[in-house]
Amino acid sequence: MDNSLEQETILNGSSTSNYRLMQCPQLGRYLVATRDIKRGEAILKDQPLVTGPQKASNLLCPGCYQPTETNCLLCGWPMCSSSCTGVKNHEPECTFLRSRNDWNPSVDRDWNQLSDCLMVVRCILFKKTDQRKWKRMLEMEANWDKWTGSPLFATANEIEQIIRNEFGLTPTEFPKSEILVVQAILDINAYEVRMCDSNVQAVYTLASLAEHNCNPNTHKTICSMYRIFLFFNHFHPIDIHSPGAHISTTYCDILWPTWHRQKYLQWSKFFICKCERCLSPTELGSHLAAIVCMDCSKSRETVPAVPLLSENESWETIAKNYHCTTCNTIFPAYECQLTFKKAEHELSELDKDVSTESIPAFEVCLIKAKSKLSIQN
Ligand SMILES: [Zn+2]
Ligand SMILES: [Zn+2]
Ligand SMILES: [Zn+2]
Ligand SMILES: [Zn+2]
Repeated sequence: MDNSLEQETILNGSSTSNYRLMQCPQLGRYLVATRDIKRGEAILKDQPLVTGPQKASNLLCPGCYQPTETNCLLCGWPMCSSSCTGVKNHEPECTFLRSRNDWNPSVDRDWNQLSDCLMVVRCILFKKTDQRKWKRMLEMEANWDKWTGSPLFATANEIEQIIRNEFGLTPTEFPKSEILVVQAILDINAYEVRMCDSNVQAVYTLASLAEHNCNPNTHKTICSMYRIFLFFNHFHPIDIHSPGAHISTTYCDILWPTWHRQKYLQWSKFFICKCERCLSPTELGSHLAAIVCMDCSKSRETVPAVPLLSENESWETIAKNYHCTTCNTIFPAYECQLTFKKAEHELSELDKDVSTESIPAFEVCLIKAKSKLSIQN
């Protein structure tokens, strides 16, 4: 057994019927089952601590996240209709902005820029409006040392400046360190909730404690009012037995191949995943990263020879070779990854048009992809 796991401690002694909160040096805080769970059964549900627009989303109503048509009758923020004026979601920033002597609701602003900062502002305002939520926010993992050494830190400093200039948050009331730590916590913990026209983010204090696995034993559903449910995945091969089976979820898109997941997790979550799927060149037999051999054109099992990074490597600086399992030719990883990126790009461009008229173009795209990628794709 791993030494660090031997040092695990129970943080939440009063276990619920389904899970218990644990901690160890290797995983930090994590959840384990306290009883046998049936496939398809809900393991936990959680309310969001806070929601807000995702950065770079279309401009959204701050009350209901629908497209904007008019402006808030009180503070002037663009919203869906006047009926969202005064709704609870928008109340914190609406009240704060109107408390400023120099805030003029009729002045037009760069609302997209303000909207990109809104989630951070909502969190930082907890300090004044909701001490319980503020405390729960600060208890979440910030991964501060790694975060401050990453490119995310520079972006966070720019956002801090916009918040000072546009929202008028003063350093006396809201020190720079607090605005930065809130952004670190959001970068590590916030869930992206994709909708048809827009992206919203939500923070869950309990659901975010489930550890990452690229073959997770739960699947998540986010329903009305952004409540999240984690269910035991029907198709997971291993039972969740008590005591002590870990409850896992995925922090990235489960359909990405290993090199893409590794790159994302290292860049945004600061860890190298060493789950069973990441250690398997065939991704547990799914061949999700496999492409048609560019040499013999026979094999669809051209797989990464060494899929995992070591601690000091970065996907930007090292290329992992692929090899064909039929003719044994070795290919540089960047060539194989380029094939994926082109297919992904073509598909995402088509994805912008969800009308039935786009179906023939989708079919052409799929036939083209079929000649290059693994059949599982
Ligand atoms: Zn609305
Ligand atoms: Zn308002
Ligand atoms: Zn993994
Ligand atoms: Zn070959």
